[in-house]
Amino acid sequence: MIFRLTFLGTSASVPSAERNHPALLVEAGGHRILVDCGEGTQRQLLRSGAGFRRLHRLLLTHAHFDHILGIPGLFSTLRLRQSEDLLTVHGGPDTLDVVMRMLAGLWGEGGAPVPLTLEPLTPGRFFQADEFAIDCFQVRHRDTDSYGFVFETPPRRHLRAEHLTSLGVPDGPIRKQLVEGRSITLANGRKVAPEDVLGPPERGKKLVIIGDTDSTEGIAEHVRGADLLVIEATFLERDAAMARDYGHLTAAQAASLAATSNVKQLVLTHISGRYADAEILAEAVRAFPNSRIAADLDVLTI
Ligand SMILES: [Zn+2]
Ligand SMILES: [Zn+2]
Repeated sequence: MIFRLTFLGTSASVPSAERNHPALLVEAGGHRILVDCGEGTQRQLLRSGAGFRRLHRLLLTHAHFDHILGIPGLFSTLRLRQSEDLLTVHGGPDTLDVVMRMLAGLWGEGGAPVPLTLEPLTPGRFFQADEFAIDCFQVRHRDTDSYGFVFETPPRRHLRAEHLTSLGVPDGPIRKQLVEGRSITLANGRKVAPEDVLGPPERGKKLVIIGDTDSTEGIAEHVRGADLLVIEATFLERDAAMARDYGHLTAAQAASLAATSNVKQLVLTHISGRYADAEILAEAVRAFPNSRIAADLDVLTI
């Protein structure tokens, strides 16, 4: 089980020639989940090769325009493609209110061009598939109703090859039964229980996505142990006062969060055109060596 991330847009509130407004596609276990939908996201879906199919779920970090203005265009295109799939939009109640008003302005009260359900977030688990779950937690970002997201696969126990060999368990579907927790009986009549051949539980994969945020305070508990943390880094430390005023992080703050939360890899996004990527990266790696700056159309798997 892996998470595949496609960075569709990596700019801060003003896009650049290289960076589109924020959006991130997460693919996992046959699910495709869009996180934020800045202006031009539909074209980025095409440029990345991801396309529009099976786009059933949209998670919104907050309702600032750089994160949501792509919604009407994307929905219009889905209608033109005669999509009849139900789309579920998850966001904080205030965020969904902005989305509803935006759609009402274009398609009339309660109107939308595609079948739609809006599901308000409350902290905790809001999506559970066979292969993974998504939890959300509140994030402080100016006066918005902001959420961060934790994608996690369940812990797994692996078969231990040496035990399989010594007990004489043959290859094939019989091994799958053991992984699924069922006992088996071998051709020689010997019974083998899952406990006889499974190793200790290993932690699943954990992906944390955080949009814009005022500070890293109170976030560490949600980020802890993540295989991958995606978070904004709009400013550099030399502009820390401005970062505070605008409700954003510096690269150093984001990297310190990763360093103190036992994160494996850090990807910085929501990149401002005022800095060179190299400057941002240099500031981040000082606090957390395994940092990288996201670029539009980057693909990462964990
Ligand atoms: Zn933003
Ligand atoms: Zn914002």
